[in-house]
Amino acid sequence: MGHVALEVADIFRSHGPAWRKAQRGHLSLGQLKVMSATEQCRSAALGGHVLRCEGCGTDRIAYNSCRNRHCPKCQAGAAPGCKHRRDTGAAHLGFGADASPARARDRSRRRAVTERRALGRL
Ligand SMILES: [Zn+2]
Repeated sequence: MGHVALEVADIFRSHGPAWRKAQRGHLSLGQLKVMSATEQCRSAALGGHVLRCEGCGTDRIAYNSCRNRHCPKCQAGAAPGCKHRRDTGAAHLGFGADASPARARDRSRRRAVTERRALGRL
């Protein structure tokens, strides 16, 4: 039987708006901020970066964290990466909340081709 990983953020995103509406007037600003941070943590809402393994070319999208000390994801530590990452390093490309990881990846590929052409490898 498969195991589905359910996160607090998933619950907040699914039921948070209705729960906040039902609890209106009973939640502090601090509590609302924690819920909002948890919902947005490591999602496209906060932007992120693309890590490209220099060994196999695998791209991994890593969204920015909220850094809220109450957020379960921020307390959980770093997520596992590509197996080559430790050996060969990885290219690191940032993108803003209003941009997409795909566009950052495309920019990176164009830059890599330009650099290889400049080095005479293409
Ligand atoms: Zn967080």
